[in-house]
Amino acid sequence: MSRFWSDIVHRLIPYTPGEQPVLAHPVKLNTNENPYGPSPRVLEAIKAELGDHADALRRYPDPTARTLCETIARHLGVRAGQVFVGNGSDEVLAHVFQGLLRHAHPILFADITYSFYPTYARLFEIDYRLIPLEADFSLDVDAYRQPNGGILIANPNAPTGRALSLKSLERLLDANPDSVVVIDEAYVDFGAESAVGLIDRYPQLLVVQTLSKSRSLAGMRVGYAIGHRDLIDALTRVKDSFNSYPLDRLAQVGAIAAIEDVAWFDKTRQAVMASRETLSAQLEALGFRVLPSAANFVFATHPDEDAGAIAAALREREIFVRHFRLPRIEQFLRISIGTDAECAALVTALKERARVTE
Ligand SMILES: *Cc1c(COP(=O)(O)O)cnc(C)c1O
Repeated sequence: MSRFWSDIVHRLIPYTPGEQPVLAHPVKLNTNENPYGPSPRVLEAIKAELGDHADALRRYPDPTARTLCETIARHLGVRAGQVFVGNGSDEVLAHVFQGLLRHAHPILFADITYSFYPTYARLFEIDYRLIPLEADFSLDVDAYRQPNGGILIANPNAPTGRALSLKSLERLLDANPDSVVVIDEAYVDFGAESAVGLIDRYPQLLVVQTLSKSRSLAGMRVGYAIGHRDLIDALTRVKDSFNSYPLDRLAQVGAIAAIEDVAWFDKTRQAVMASRETLSAQLEALGFRVLPSAANFVFATHPDEDAGAIAAALREREIFVRHFRLPRIEQFLRISIGTDAECAALVTALKERARVTE
């Protein structure tokens, strides 16, 4: 704390990312990173960019990332003018808060969802109202029928993994024609329905996606938003008032290569989804209740074991899962889907612990 801090800084509650342990071989199932690497073509594209142009790092990158926007547009069946890219979808979301969600009414999002939403709301001084999820952590779209300055929905939701159907989303959009509705699809490629196909029908709809999870590029920082040109223009105006070059040259070529390698994308996400079903069944056999997940993680609770104690015991064995000490979910663990060997190490550790505590 310092007398030099602004009032806003005093009031901030910064987002706490999952631990990045400094260990040789941790079993890291705590930050929803993809256990499989990105497409090998990503590294080739980055090497080519570095190798072929001595100027690759000397010169500024394309501030509009035009080729990347065109690639995303072609891949999703939208127009390049309906695409905005940023330095991770977190940055895209920050611009959304500042450029599209600051209005007279509070914005609405679930009580249990991505914890960056309240963080951004405080940073940008935007009022928000939490809409409680149902007892089973499903989302009732009719609860969002009230005056609002915008709506944010993570679909699938984090940290629950539960997905909302497109039909429900359409009902939400029909009920809210006059406020921006943001669908954060960070995990959509692991089994949920994307709302991208709705953008031409709903000018208030903005869909946000990321290369961090299903393209295994969390370290490269590329995210994007898809929506009506007017929404994209707002984001571009904010970006050009903040940082004109959010994506460096290597990230731009790497992202293009990742999106173009559809075969790698499909193979790895299918593997993650298959492992998710296996792990869910194994956890259930150990007595856990596991929520249905359409993401690359599962959200699980044990009726007789304290979630914090389980997480601490796993940590001793260098197995990291995410435990949120928050109302309603303090007895849950969010477990990212790892390789089959990592999932097996987790299950073995849980079994041994069960034997010891019996
Ligand atoms: C991981 C995640 C993001 C952020 O992704 P980046 O593109 O890495 O910034 C956004 N929203 C949700 C719900 C996430 O889980």
